[in-house]
Amino acid sequence: AAAQISDIEKARGLNAFITETPEKALAMAAQSDLRIARGEAGPLEGIPLGIKDLYCTDGVQTTAGSHILEGFTPAYESTVSANLWRDGAVMLGKLNLDEFAMGSSNETSYFGPVISPWRRKDSDKPLVPGGSSGGSAAAVAARLCFGATATDTGGSIRQPAAFTGTVGIKPTYGRCSRWGIVAFASSLDQAGPIARTVRDAAILLRSMAGHDPKDTTSADLPAPDYEAAVGRSIKGMKIGIPKEYRLDGMSPEIEKLWAQGVQWLIDAGASPVEISLPNTRHALPAYYIVAPAEASSNLARYDGVRYGLRAPGKDIADMYENTRAAGFGKEVRRRIMIGTYVLSAGYYDAYYVRAQQIRTLIKRDFETAFAAGVDAILTPATPSAAFGIGEKGSADPVEMYLNDIFTVTVNMAGLPGVAVPAGLSSEGLPLGLQVIGRAFDEETLFAVAEVIE
Ligand code: GLN
Repeated sequence: AAAQISDIEKARGLNAFITETPEKALAMAAQSDLRIARGEAGPLEGIPLGIKDLYCTDGVQTTAGSHILEGFTPAYESTVSANLWRDGAVMLGKLNLDEFAMGSSNETSYFGPVISPWRRKDSDKPLVPGGSSGGSAAAVAARLCFGATATDTGGSIRQPAAFTGTVGIKPTYGRCSRWGIVAFASSLDQAGPIARTVRDAAILLRSMAGHDPKDTTSADLPAPDYEAAVGRSIKGMKIGIPKEYRLDGMSPEIEKLWAQGVQWLIDAGASPVEISLPNTRHALPAYYIVAPAEASSNLARYDGVRYGLRAPGKDIADMYENTRAAGFGKEVRRRIMIGTYVLSAGYYDAYYVRAQQIRTLIKRDFETAFAAGVDAILTPATPSAAFGIGEKGSADPVEMYLNDIFTVTVNMAGLPGVAVPAGLSSEGLPLGLQVIGRAFDEETLFAVAEVIE
């Protein structure tokens, strides 16, 4: 832990951490030493981890990347982080993220952007680590921590993992408890790890997962021994290649990476089959209705009374208004406005109900593919490699939303998806592939991902 603490201090330029917790790390590491000496070591004993600042941590400021939560110190611990501490892990601090996890580049954080440790060949231009779990991905890629927690509502674990050459898995909806994690879009949000290797991700997920009576959407299933699935043979598996993911104007580099991935799976004894997920093209527009709708409802609780920031006002309504105006950033305000609009009486049927119907169709597309015997689906993780800070989305937010084209379907269907590093772009940046699986079959994902890695 001491070595990690000094590395974190040296890498402050990345802005990966919002809050460092060195004293806590050393105290937890000392406890770990005691348990090891007593022969009572847990599966993660002494392993230093970072926690995305969307997870409430007892006695440690939790901001969700927002000014409105600045100074909020929870008196409780999220179930997932508590599970990690139960198994012996050591907390290094709280990792930067897009404000309320809304973004794909970590540029919407009130605490400033995270800088990726990667650079393009022959260029010093700072790049984004992806988002919203940009701090988690950058910290793992820069070896500041052995692994990190992250969350994924539309791609926020997989896209930053792909951008930084790390492994990120969004488990099946319900696999990890959402209790104590600041809510963005509750029907889409899932916790998961970002790690250096497929094996590390498997080990971390096992500790993070499991039933929690405090989250009614948490599945009452034991967490399998995911590590045992790493290295398992994929011989005879059918791998679906969805034709709708072959986008017009797709970069040749991504196309080549995808073909290479298919070849690796063939070499390992699996057989690719072309499948059709016909509603894919509706996924992004439907996601950008459902997610803001749920966000506008979840974010109603930030009123200046209960948490964090309070801006004075002449009466209570004025105080609410001033607090929310001062506390929320531009992207969050945009989502609240879109969400409120699509949920309003006159537009509810035209937008929100429609989007929910599309969601059902997307889910059925996957069910049809899996019912036809497909074991897993292989797609690119992102449409491009990492881009420069300030390069995308400032004039047109849709440009940023397009980053999620390959990842949002998985959240809409509640399925597990993993991003695994698969090669480098011509500019020397990491590129990732995504493996999508059946609900509650993360084990197959780990087996397939291990072959690609
Ligand atoms: N980029 C997507 C969004 O901005 C996904 C974010 C996430 O998964 N938390 O909504």
